[in-house]
Amino acid sequence: MHTLNESVIEENMGLRPTYLQINLNTLTANYQAIQQAVGQRAVMVILKANAYGHGLVRVAQHMAQEGAAYFGVAYLEEALLLRQEGVTTPILVLGGIVGNQIPLFIQHDITITASSVEKLEAIEIAAQKLGIRARVHLKIDTGMERIGVHYYSAEALQEASLACEWCEIEGIYSHFANSDSADLTHAKTQLARFQTVLNFYDQRNLRRPCVHVGNSGAILQLPEAHFDMVRAGILFYGVYPDRETMRTVAVRPALAWKSKVVYFKVVQPNHPVSYGSTWRSDKMTRIVTIPVGYGDGYFRSMSNRAEVIIRGKRYPVIGRICMDQMMVDIGWESAYNDDEVILLGEDESGVAISADDLAEWAGTIAYEVLTNINTRVPRVYVGGNSARY
Ligand SMILES: *Cc1c(COP(=O)(O)O)cnc(C)c1O
Repeated sequence: MHTLNESVIEENMGLRPTYLQINLNTLTANYQAIQQAVGQRAVMVILKANAYGHGLVRVAQHMAQEGAAYFGVAYLEEALLLRQEGVTTPILVLGGIVGNQIPLFIQHDITITASSVEKLEAIEIAAQKLGIRARVHLKIDTGMERIGVHYYSAEALQEASLACEWCEIEGIYSHFANSDSADLTHAKTQLARFQTVLNFYDQRNLRRPCVHVGNSGAILQLPEAHFDMVRAGILFYGVYPDRETMRTVAVRPALAWKSKVVYFKVVQPNHPVSYGSTWRSDKMTRIVTIPVGYGDGYFRSMSNRAEVIIRGKRYPVIGRICMDQMMVDIGWESAYNDDEVILLGEDESGVAISADDLAEWAGTIAYEVLTNINTRVPRVYVGGNSARY
């Protein structure tokens, strides 16, 4: 099983003091806040990259139970795993179709992104062969230049879709490149282009398929882009896409990354610490060792930059972060073996380290901080329904 019950959690925590704590109730609250912000529209919960590090299967099972309308993943494998684990919620694979994956999509009722006329025709032929209708969303590129038929050539794909007998053209979508910035010029250009593509249906008096384009940035900043469904990724996990993005929906981080002090020592003045001797004590100081490193996804580039919380205070990570361990300078204060160390999250007194803090120390974005946390770090779930599926 991929889920951990109470006793398994205890065992795991006995084995390894480093773990991620994911609060399922916080995810529910974030989902509800997003749902409230978009009114009657459906919310697709984006679960790619191990649910942004939160654990694909467990988050999906929880949100299926909470009644999420749709799931979005990047690759077919992610969708197949969810089906195998008994998740029956509709799942859209946002990435392109590779090789001969089409029959697997159709047999497991996984929604396919059709990004060209050729791909749509291949889906139609495969569905006819299997005698099962395929669920399809058309992908229009309005200015991201990633996948999708260009907005100025979309009509051919739309025409072809009308001729399909074995494809249910359930949706049509596009993706923003800059919906999270303060400058929304490009996003608005993309939106206007998408609108011309949608006019196809009105001009022919056809019912429009489900229209979706809003990612987290657009949920927050572009209500005119909510259409029939929004695709909530990072916002669902309680993190804002960018420091610039307007925070029009209140969400809270659902994930905390914790470890424990495993070693304590006094270091004499003028003694270097860790590989490369990049840090040297200027006076006698107390240094603790934490059993977490870049092999867990704690970026090495945060060496001599990051901070952690011990006993309600932030202390600097000093010297190079190793693969499995790192050192923290606590000055002349006290810490003991087994003391909790918060790498990401908030303690009871409100002292916090955010995914944005880690991103800044590592020179990246919160998305990468979350998705980079290695699978060897055990995930522990709190809240939600503890019933197993
Ligand atoms: C990842 C992704 C999203 C979610 O993006 P967030 O910024 O995390 O909300 C939405 N749509 C597509 C196509 C994506 O690839």
